[in-house]
Amino acid sequence: MKAVSLLIHSAGQLLTLAPHADGRPKRGSEMGELGVIGDGAVAVDGARILAVGTTPEIRERFTLAPDATEIDARKAVVMPAFIDPHTHVLFRGTREWEFEERLRGTSYMAIAAAGGGIHSSVRMFREASDEELLVESLARLDRMAALGTGTVEVKTGYGLDPEQELRALRLIAELDRRHPLQIVPTYLGAHEVPQEFRDSPDAYVDLLTERMLPEAASLGIARFCDVFCEKGVFSVAQSRRILAAAAALGMRPKLHADEIEPMGGAELAAELGAISADHLGRISEEGMLAMAAAGVVAVLLPGTVFSLGSRNYAPARRMIELGTPVALATDCNPGSSMTESQPWIIALACLQMAMTPAEAVTATTYNASAALGLADQLGALSPGYRADIQILDAPSYARLPYHVGSSDLRQLVIGGNLLIPGPEPPTLGPEPPTLGLEPPTLGRGPRLAR
Ligand SMILES: [Zn+2]
Repeated sequence: MKAVSLLIHSAGQLLTLAPHADGRPKRGSEMGELGVIGDGAVAVDGARILAVGTTPEIRERFTLAPDATEIDARKAVVMPAFIDPHTHVLFRGTREWEFEERLRGTSYMAIAAAGGGIHSSVRMFREASDEELLVESLARLDRMAALGTGTVEVKTGYGLDPEQELRALRLIAELDRRHPLQIVPTYLGAHEVPQEFRDSPDAYVDLLTERMLPEAASLGIARFCDVFCEKGVFSVAQSRRILAAAAALGMRPKLHADEIEPMGGAELAAELGAISADHLGRISEEGMLAMAAAGVVAVLLPGTVFSLGSRNYAPARRMIELGTPVALATDCNPGSSMTESQPWIIALACLQMAMTPAEAVTATTYNASAALGLADQLGALSPGYRADIQILDAPSYARLPYHVGSSDLRQLVIGGNLLIPGPEPPTLGPEPPTLGLEPPTLGRGPRLAR
């Protein structure tokens, strides 16, 4: 019998997510198929999953290595850790004043035009020290982990000049080194037209394509290049120029598309073979069909719609009907979605976009991984997949949207290591607390080998 380093057993529901062999995203009715195993077990060796099955099947094939971890998941849901495929967590300072201004009725675009919005975060980013940025951002990653997230895409985009955007990329790489969560870097030098270029936006596009993108690519950090394609920001033609230049340098396109105005951003994503197009509150029917045909993942950000006090949710049901693969993300950022919580995003997806709990689970795990090009190795419980696993104190995964604003996370395993709870001895006696009275604390265990 093979000895394993981690065995999780007796799960009430074990969600395998039943991945496709080639890692292509799930679409249509596939999104509702979670591959549930009752009395489920997972055998893990090192950072990878060896096998999943029922507890008797797995116990028959595997034994525990001498220093192995065993987790009894009775009355629990065992599922992949969340993947958050669209965030801006590298930022300095928050914008409560602007939030209050919006509550008084001023629009987001009007605040941006008055020098607020992204511009105020750009000023704070440029003035902050590296360490100030890292400390704030690491705390956000801690909160994400405490809510069950294991992998986080992080974009640049508050530097908006050649040096500051390179600094942002290096800091994102530093977050990955310092934090146990896995970080996926995206270059977003085209987050906004910087104020220095307000009267000559095409000159900034020239700077991006001729200097900033080649310099960014030469660092070898960013896997993706993103553009904010929106009225008053970057046009479809400008976005096409930037993303084509990035693709030629090895950075695959992503887009902020059709959020506030229908612009044809989804169609552009399909034309360019983007890995994802995100937001999509005003996507056209043609855009949905084009994305479905090209296999572009729609990353929906209902937390942003909610936080802007809008009703402009993306047409998730129509996308699923048409076969557009759907993922969900927090869009964690200081202007329009100040949240680290994928469970809350799942609640919004179910209650505001009529997604089913099973579809929302697929959209925050396997399809979220597909939006980062990782679904052949991350986002499912299947042999060979990375052992990023969350264990929820719940009889069913439907607890996620049902129990709004709380976390039922009991344990989080990242790369085969137990990250939550940490190695500190429990303070409530020999039995682990099961009532969720205390928030989970982050472990300070050994760093993951990657
Ligand atoms: Zn965004």
